[in-house]
Amino acid sequence: MTVRTVAIVGAGIAGLTAALCLARKGIASHILEQADRLEEVGAGLQISPNASGVLAKLGLLPTLESQWLEPERIVLASGRTLRPLTAVPVGTQARRRWSYPYGVLHRTTLQRVLIAAVQAEPLAHLHLGAKVDRYNPTAIATQTGEAVDLIVGADGVWSKLRTAVPAAPPACFSGSVAWRFMVPFDRAPPLFDPRSVVAWIGPSAHLVAYPLAEAQSFNIVAIHQGTAGRQIWSGQSGDDGIRMDAFSGWDAGIRALLQAANDPLTWPLYECADGRWYNNSDLILIGDAAHASTPFAAQGAAMAIEDAAELAAAVSGNVDLPDALSSFEKRRRERLKRVRARADFNRFAYHARGPIAFARDVILAIRSPESVAADFDWLYGYQPKF
Ligand SMILES: Cc1cc2nc3c(=O)[nH]c(=O)nc-3n(C[C@H](O)[C@H](O)[C@H](O)COP(=O)(O)OP(=O)(O)OC[C@H]3O[C@@H](n4cnc5c(N)ncnc54)[C@H](O)[C@@H]3O)c2cc1C
Repeated sequence: MTVRTVAIVGAGIAGLTAALCLARKGIASHILEQADRLEEVGAGLQISPNASGVLAKLGLLPTLESQWLEPERIVLASGRTLRPLTAVPVGTQARRRWSYPYGVLHRTTLQRVLIAAVQAEPLAHLHLGAKVDRYNPTAIATQTGEAVDLIVGADGVWSKLRTAVPAAPPACFSGSVAWRFMVPFDRAPPLFDPRSVVAWIGPSAHLVAYPLAEAQSFNIVAIHQGTAGRQIWSGQSGDDGIRMDAFSGWDAGIRALLQAANDPLTWPLYECADGRWYNNSDLILIGDAAHASTPFAAQGAAMAIEDAAELAAAVSGNVDLPDALSSFEKRRRERLKRVRARADFNRFAYHARGPIAFARDVILAIRSPESVAADFDWLYGYQPKF
């Protein structure tokens, strides 16, 4: 069959990118978004070359490049001593080694660029205030105004459509919470590097900082253990504040910065284990709806973008739709298993203590930048089929 029209539930990064990728293949889409207007929510995002390659093919890179920054390196450093432990060269190296740039930007910037592209795309139709409470093809066809060949569940970590996929993985609390706030460039302490993404690590917590050109500020994310909290779409003010005991023994400058954090927002971090994304009929999940993950590998949005490209490629042309969706799911689950394993490893390594932390530091110290970069070839060098 030829897929002509698709309903996409959710106008997040997954849903908007999917609409653009489908349009490139000549497939029309209706994006059903529950919000009445697309609000500016979220934090900073690191967009790695595996995802920026898709954005390049969609023609969005020049606009993004004019607004984002391309850090020279990603540094891992000790939270106690600030001593760098290792660094992955990105910047021009990312373009050379993995063909596409590594950019950092505010989520709002990416969302605005995607929305503008969707609005300029005759094959993509955005419906705001269109909540989809459950999987019901007839009700969805009423919302889109026409019958569709496929329903894409891109409704995020609290996906309603997920319940219609037998053996789909539920979202479970990871045990960690993230806190995010910004520090303007002109008030940032010298330990912040405007040319790097820096992750300071310690036994119970870690802290990531990188510059956002659009906000003229550093985006700071602190992660430590916490409680599940409410299921929310965007960050909320926390009652308890950042747990300073998780940063005990850390550098005094970092502690002072955390204590002075202006209005930090918190996210309980939920994740989905491996499981089915396809209902063996006309519904497929992508993005966080399928595979929400912790930000320990900074790949959630990147995986949503990869999904969008590969799904469009899978269903374009004259296809056996169940076959196309089954192989899409199989291929993507394999990739996600590897990414999840990397995030789990990072969580273990970042928060290690005692002899394990000592061994980690020794191993990192003897590795060359070339061998550290080579470790990311499978992740950043991956070019989604599109
Ligand atoms: C602290 C933190 C830092 C992160 N850093 C990075 C990073 O550096 N790099 C990276 O790649 N990723 C990062 N991520 C992950 C990334 O933000 C997410 O993986 C990504 O935004 C998921 O996109 P999505 O489109 O699948 O879901 P969402 O962005 O959640 O979008 C879902 C959309 O569906 C809509 N919706 C929901 N339910 C319904 C319904 N019933 N009907 C209609 N519409 C509905 C919602 O309103 C929303 O617009 C980070 C996450 C966190 C918490």
